[in-house]
Amino acid sequence: MSFIADRMGRIDASGIRKAFALAAKLSDPINLSIGQPDYDVDDAVKAEAQRQIVAGQNSYTQTWGIAPLREACSDYYEENYGTKLENVMITSGVSGGLFLALMATVNPGDEVLFADPYFVMYKHLATLLGGEARPIDTYPDFKLTAEAVESAITENSKVLILNSPSNPTGVSIDTDELARIAAVAKKHDLLVITDEIYEKLSYDASPSTIVGQYDNVILLNGFSKMAAMTGWRVGFAAGPEVIIQHMNTLQQYTFVCAPSFAQHAAITALKLDHSSKVDAYREKRDLAYSLLKDAFKVVRPDGAFYIFPEAPGGDGEALVKKAIDHNLIIIPGNVFSERNTHVRVSFAAPNDTIREGLEILRGLAG
Ligand code: PMP
Repeated sequence: MSFIADRMGRIDASGIRKAFALAAKLSDPINLSIGQPDYDVDDAVKAEAQRQIVAGQNSYTQTWGIAPLREACSDYYEENYGTKLENVMITSGVSGGLFLALMATVNPGDEVLFADPYFVMYKHLATLLGGEARPIDTYPDFKLTAEAVESAITENSKVLILNSPSNPTGVSIDTDELARIAAVAKKHDLLVITDEIYEKLSYDASPSTIVGQYDNVILLNGFSKMAAMTGWRVGFAAGPEVIIQHMNTLQQYTFVCAPSFAQHAAITALKLDHSSKVDAYREKRDLAYSLLKDAFKVVRPDGAFYIFPEAPGGDGEALVKKAIDHNLIIIPGNVFSERNTHVRVSFAAPNDTIREGLEILRGLAG
C-alpha cells in the first residue's frame, strides 16, 4: 500500500528534477540557474540579526508577526506607492504567503489564472488544492494584458495571480495595463493575488502596484530578493481583513510564525538604501541582454534577474542539454511554461560568470 496521499500525484516536478539530474554530473559548472541574488545580506542587517539573537529574540512571535515590522511594511508601500497596506501579516517568505492565500481561498474546481510563463509554485499549489490552473499564454512579448485575462475568464474563475516583474521573464506590467487588469478583475469579481517580490529590482520605470486600485487584492512581498535574506524566511501579506484572518488561522496550524530574529532584522532591511544594488543589477541586465540579443530572439527584461531567450528550433530542453555538455547550467522554459520553446537564464551572478556563460550560449545559437 502506498502511504502517499493522492494529492501528491497532482504535482509534477519532473521538469526541475530532470534539469538538476543533468546538472549534477558537472563538477565545477558555470551556473546561470540560480534564483537568488549574488550579493549577501547587508552588514547592518546581519548585525541587527545578531543583536536580536543575543538580546533574546528567540521565541515565538505573534502569529501575525511583530507589530513594528507590520507597520514598517505598510509605511514602505505608502512611501513607494502612496498607499498604506491594510491588515499586514508576516509570512514565512512569499512562498508561505502564497500557500496560505491559496489554501484559504481555492476550492476544488476553482480556476486560478496566471500569465504563462509563470513562477512554478502558482501552477502546482493551485493544482495541489484541487483547483484548476489556467495559464494565460503571453508569448512572444510576455506582456499580460487585460484583454487576455478577460478572454481566459469562465464562470469558474476565482483567482488571478499577478507577478510583476516576472520570474522567469523579467517583464513587468505597466501602470496603464494594471489599471485595465484591475477593471477586469472588478467586473468579474476575481480575487487578485499580486506577487511583488521583485518590485525593488526594477531597472527602467518605477514599479507599479495594483494595491489600492481594487479592493479584493492580496499583496505578497518579502525579503528574499531585495535583501538577499532567502534563508531567513520572511515575507509579508496584506489585504481584505476576512481573508488575512483566515490566512492567520492557517498560519497558527502550519508555519506558526516567521523566525523571530529575522523579523526584527527585516525592519532594518526595509529602511536600507538598495539603489547601488539595483544599479549593479541594471548593469547585469544590460550585459546579459547585449550578449544575447544578436544570437537569440529575446525580450529585454525590465526587472528581476532573469532573461528568457527562445531556443534555436524552438526546443528549450535540447538547448539545455547542449549547454550542460558545455558545462553551463540553465533551466528549460517548460519548467515555467506549457511551452518548451525557451530557456531561463539567471543573471544573478558575477559579471565574469555572466560573460563566460553567455559566450557559451551564443556558441550554441546555431
Ligand atoms: N515568487 C516568485 C516570483 C519567486 O521567484 C520566488 C523565489 N524564487 C518566490 C515567490 C518565493 O520567495 P520566498 O519564499 O523566498 O520569499
